[in-house]
Amino acid sequence: MQRKLDKIMAICEKRGFFFPSAEIYGGKAGFWTYGHLGTLLKRKFENEWNLDENFYEIEDCNLLPEQVFVSSGHLEHFRDPLTECKKCHFRFRADELIEDELNINVEGIKAEAMDKIIRDNNLKCPKCGSRELTKVRWFNMMFELKVGAVGEETMYLRPETAQSAYLSFKREFYALREKLPIGLAIIGKAYRNEISPRQVFFRLREFTQAELQIFFDPKKINEVENWNKVRRYKLRMFLAKNRKSKKVVEMSCEDVVKKLNLPKMYVYYLAMVQRFYLNILKIPKEKFRLKELTEKERAFYNKIHYDVELFLETLEGFKEVAGIHYRTDYDLRNHQEGSKESMEVINEKKEKFIPHVLELSFGVDRNVFSIVDIFFKEEKERNLFVFPRKLAPIEVAIFPLVRKDKLPQKARKVFSLLKDSGFIVFYDEKGSIGRMYRRMDEIGCPAMITIDYDSLKNDDCTLRDRDTMKQIRVKIDELPQTILKFLNGEKLTKLGKIFK
Ligand code: ATP
Repeated sequence: MQRKLDKIMAICEKRGFFFPSAEIYGGKAGFWTYGHLGTLLKRKFENEWNLDENFYEIEDCNLLPEQVFVSSGHLEHFRDPLTECKKCHFRFRADELIEDELNINVEGIKAEAMDKIIRDNNLKCPKCGSRELTKVRWFNMMFELKVGAVGEETMYLRPETAQSAYLSFKREFYALREKLPIGLAIIGKAYRNEISPRQVFFRLREFTQAELQIFFDPKKINEVENWNKVRRYKLRMFLAKNRKSKKVVEMSCEDVVKKLNLPKMYVYYLAMVQRFYLNILKIPKEKFRLKELTEKERAFYNKIHYDVELFLETLEGFKEVAGIHYRTDYDLRNHQEGSKESMEVINEKKEKFIPHVLELSFGVDRNVFSIVDIFFKEEKERNLFVFPRKLAPIEVAIFPLVRKDKLPQKARKVFSLLKDSGFIVFYDEKGSIGRMYRRMDEIGCPAMITIDYDSLKNDDCTLRDRDTMKQIRVKIDELPQTILKFLNGEKLTKLGKIFK
């Protein structure tokens, strides 16, 4: 819905969520800056992204040697089909043209086959409408850099964070007491020279990924310690056979294992990921689905692949925000061959093997944008983001009712009290109280505090709930605990008496 997209973008750019990078020089497609609110929102997502108590975060370089990508297969396979309009020289992805125009998914098919579809259906340049398009050819999406004084070494900006976890596996395995499974998580930048960046944060050239690689013994793929915690939990499965009807079926984890023949460990993580979306991010259930990818659609090294898709009104459909990939021992085996370093480990039966990998891969920016889309609300008198309280970039706002009679001084004291208690607080005294409320509603601040004349007498303040606009009075010395409970989801009515 273009109208909603325009509205959201206007608010986000004006209020400091995000805007085009290097905007004063015209910006570049696929590069964005997070403003102060966007940075806080993104960080909240990253902090909540905690899918398993057993994982450890590591950090690595964005630039990696060429040999890494020879072994990983990126130099050979990390490519998109490119075509160019002979008339206006606009370059774009052939698969996206076909998908947009004919609604057919062409993932995994050859360049010649795409050429044929384009010709048979008389498809035209999306920019100028000419039907004269060049033959489809493959284009590698990695950014290459020459390193050293005379550029003697070729390195690449990583196109995914995953490789760093594989490169560090052996070290971390020993440092972490040689136990499997272990999870190595990385939150960091990834770079792809996308042919046609578009859809705001959905096709960026520089973006952030949050990826968790879980290394495990393949013989134990059906042994999950906490299986009972998810056994009956219902997953929202969008199976390949239901693509046409668009039907999502709810199946218990137990049934998914039995009926779809998926390993328990894989299904356990499908459940952890769904819980993260529904319980932590509070995405409405009907906007969430786990989409099965067929053998043709998934990368050849992925034995099982489901994508997390969220329904976004602004982009008019379900969009991929994360993927859950069973990559087998493909990566460690290739790095073993390429580096000549053994990646084998030994289990308790003294058997040697290369661990397998289950990857949970999230695009942070796509998720941030989805949160912005899903929680945007238009009401009669106001536009607002109804972010889950814990995700809100600014948690509490404080205003004096008027800018005189010592009210600002008192309000500043409350501001310091809350800041020192660890909340993300914003102080404002510029404007009427009604306007200040609206500004905070618009950026999704859940709790607003006003210092009025009664505050001077009674040492208390009003606490206003963004969603209901109702208010209670709270003693200032009880404010930190009250705010904490409120941000953790307590209803305002449980924290005090609503007054008119
Ligand atoms: P797509 O099919 O949309 O190109 P992908 O399947 O290539 O994505 P992966 O390589 O599995 O994506 O990357 C994992 C995650 O990283 C994706 O689910 C997505 O959230 C994010 N991601 C990938 N490419 C981009 C991009 N160009 N811009 C923003 N996020 C991206």
